[in-house]
Amino acid sequence: MGEISISTNERFELVDITYEVQKLLEDFDLDEGAVLIFTKHTTTALMINEKETGLLKDFKKIMKELVPEGREYEHNRIDNNADSHLRAILLSSSLVVPVSNRRLELGSWQRIFLVELDGPRTRKIIVKPLLSTGE
Ligand code: ZN
Repeated sequence: MGEISISTNERFELVDITYEVQKLLEDFDLDEGAVLIFTKHTTTALMINEKETGLLKDFKKIMKELVPEGREYEHNRIDNNADSHLRAILLSSSLVVPVSNRRLELGSWQRIFLVELDGPRTRKIIVKPLLSTGE
């Protein structure tokens, strides 16, 4: 099992972690199988999509429209980040990506993103091989 530590810089930020995940794969004895990527936080998410500046801006805009910051949320009575949790709930805390010949089998436009929803903070991402036929 591996762990990636990412320091984010903004409250709402998309961080491309494809390279870090691929680099960890080289430490695993995993020729064929899949890898589980999991975020250990309630105000982050993981997603796979295209790293195109306009699209990433569109994504942030739509998330802010779906879950606006300024509403009266119950959770804000104890912690001022209900919008961060609610955005994370709409996304996903884990991903499974197929692995072939020790490489992530991503499509040519696919990248793996950590979605920071309540930064800046230091975040831990678990990366775990699911299957191995390399024994
Ligand atoms: Zn909270």
